Amino acid sequence: MLKRTLLFGLLIVLMLPVRANRPEIKLVQAMRDRGFDYLDIYTTAQVKAKGLLLEDQLLIDFPDTGISSDLRLSKRLLKNSQRVKDIKVIQVDARTARVIIDLKKGVDYDIVNVFGRNKNVIEISDRQDRAERIMAAWEKQNLTVKGEELKPEKYKAAVAAKGGKLPLEGRTIVIDPGHGGRDPGAISKHGIPEKNINLAVARKVAYLLKSAGATVYLTRKNDRTNNLRDIVAFADRIKSDIFISIHFNYSDIESINGTETYYYKKNSRNLALILHKSLINGIKRKDRGLRRAKYYAISHTDMPAVLLEPLYLSNWQESKLASSDNFQAEIARDIAAGVKNYFRSRSN
Ligand SMILES: [Zn+2]
Repeated sequence: MLKRTLLFGLLIVLMLPVRANRPEIKLVQAMRDRGFDYLDIYTTAQVKAKGLLLEDQLLIDFPDTGISSDLRLSKRLLKNSQRVKDIKVIQVDARTARVIIDLKKGVDYDIVNVFGRNKNVIEISDRQDRAERIMAAWEKQNLTVKGEELKPEKYKAAVAAKGGKLPLEGRTIVIDPGHGGRDPGAISKHGIPEKNINLAVARKVAYLLKSAGATVYLTRKNDRTNNLRDIVAFADRIKSDIFISIHFNYSDIESINGTETYYYKKNSRNLALILHKSLINGIKRKDRGLRRAKYYAISHTDMPAVLLEPLYLSNWQESKLASSDNFQAEIARDIAAGVKNYFRSRSN
């Protein structure tokens, strides 16, 4: 087996020079201007870079790209940056080159592909949303009031056809549609309370997961006021494998939009990362990062737990998307696909 791995490795090394015509990263230049940090990344041909924002790192991937042997990495202007700590360029695998930007604090980013100039500009600015503060205030309020008795809804697992096996067979999953009852959550630009959208998406996710063989519980099946403590106690009592809380975001700055994914405990990071990537690649909204925050349910349950915020209801365009049945279905598909990937990665 080892021999075969070595041989395979050798084969890859031998194949690399054959792909000599592929683009290469040749210059990375840090700049600062008008309160932004910029990274100009030049390649030898046109490449569309793709980002992934993590807790304290921003990864910029260049598909089918190598690194030039005389790569220039100009970090001189980083010295006084409030946001960027360091920059590295690595070859992730035979296909992907990656620029790793180590961050000093939470940021926001955009990638501008300068067409015809073989250049990607990474624009890094201070994080503007106050999502975490708004959420913390809501939770504090929730924990002071007694909720109604928790009445979860069970979705019975589908059974595989004779001889087959469904991907989520034997798994138990709790989906928590955020807010409900006296607590509407945020109100969308189109006047729809977040609690309704959360429930609609949660139902779609539950259906997909049950169809894939999981036993699924929704923490509410209708418009009820749940207390977060009861939700945590329930998920722990039934020994759920994972816990997913579904919310939609809100900011008092209308222009803010995009997808955020939260976790708190170490055992939840992998699930959060997989779900975040699945949503970013699926619904293709702005990547606002995988984030760690001490929200109540995701920091108190025993099992891996995440809180999703796929869109901003305070943004006109995303508010519209959030009410669309088709778009809700796309969000649900991405969440379900992520859950399947997660369990597949664990059983390998
Ligand atoms: Zn919410």
